Amino acid sequence: MPRVYLDHSATTPTRTEVAQLVMEYMTEKFGNPSTLYSYGREAKKAVERSREQVAGLVKATPEEIIFTSGGTEGDNLALVGMARAYARKGRHLITAAVEHPAVLDTCHYLARQGFAVTILPVDEDGTVSVAEVEKVLRPDTILISIMQVNNEVGTIEPVEEIGELARARGVLFHIDAVQAIGKVAVDVEALRADALTGSGHKIYGPKGTGFLYLRKRVKLAPLVWGGGQERAFRPGTENVAGIAGLGLAAELAGQELKTEMPRLAALRNRLINGILEKVEGTALNGPTVKRVPTNANLRFDGVEGEALLQAMDLKGICVSSGSACSAGSVNPSHVLTAMGLTREEALSSVRMTLGRENTEEQIDYVLEELPQIVERLRRKAE
Ligand SMILES: *Cc1c(COP(=O)(O)O)cnc(C)c1O
Repeated sequence: MPRVYLDHSATTPTRTEVAQLVMEYMTEKFGNPSTLYSYGREAKKAVERSREQVAGLVKATPEEIIFTSGGTEGDNLALVGMARAYARKGRHLITAAVEHPAVLDTCHYLARQGFAVTILPVDEDGTVSVAEVEKVLRPDTILISIMQVNNEVGTIEPVEEIGELARARGVLFHIDAVQAIGKVAVDVEALRADALTGSGHKIYGPKGTGFLYLRKRVKLAPLVWGGGQERAFRPGTENVAGIAGLGLAAELAGQELKTEMPRLAALRNRLINGILEKVEGTALNGPTVKRVPTNANLRFDGVEGEALLQAMDLKGICVSSGSACSAGSVNPSHVLTAMGLTREEALSSVRMTLGRENTEEQIDYVLEELPQIVERLRRKAE
């Protein structure tokens, strides 16, 4: 039985060359970057090379990159760190209902700490309105946090316009770009980002690696204290092996963007159109145009997404119902409900996200199996 992995927004397979590099920095080149002999210098060089590679991918300067343990930490560090550093200027934050829990839960925490948080609604495509952002701006607003690409439905948010607005009003702007990096152009200058979060394992790098871009002269309160690593914004002995792997993954993601994305967009369209054609009672969730090339999210009337996931797994096909973080729970996706889907529609939805190893044969295999699975599940439900 073929195995078809269609959950690249949950995580990606680590590239072989990345894994090899990680191995190298775990074994022969194991030094602590803070030490002064050759082992330490070698490790430090790897960290600084990675910093250049990551900076290159998002058009930042290396000094603006802080290595973290991933997207969740990056979002926490950005939001809590900037909120605390600028609390004297104001205590109002703006974010959107479709954000990742790493942003939303952090905003809820800040609300409990006495900050005022406005959570913006979205339209039926999951898009945040720039006019809405402008409407809720207050004299005490210090920070806007909007994701560049949504992890569940692939919506590309108008972050460039929001960045322009934020900069004009003297408000900080944070972007969760975890699902954008490697899929669409991410340019911190064009986006007018003050902070931007990335994660390694979503771009074929190691899990537990990531970074926060922090624009020059923007203040940030650290969340942990200790050594002076990462300019004391994120102290602790560096995850040298992971950081080296992240750097290589970032460089390769940048190189392959222009060739890989059109290929995946074509495969993704083949998948969506094939399903809409072959299976009655289906609909695409999210936008058709302003959508990242790798994402398909569909609902199947009268079918439970969770049951569909399990039946597809038996055929070797890995998909996700709702977001991976809430898998296992019966709560409908907060993203789909924010887009106006009913609880039932949300619970009958499945996300398929494509990546490097996917081929046309694999998509055709899914298109062959899926209609039969859906039909069987519907008959059972009758
Ligand atoms: C995966 C993801 C995160 C969390 O990143 P981790 O590295 O898994 O902690 C944050 N935001 C978005 C949009 C994501 O897709």
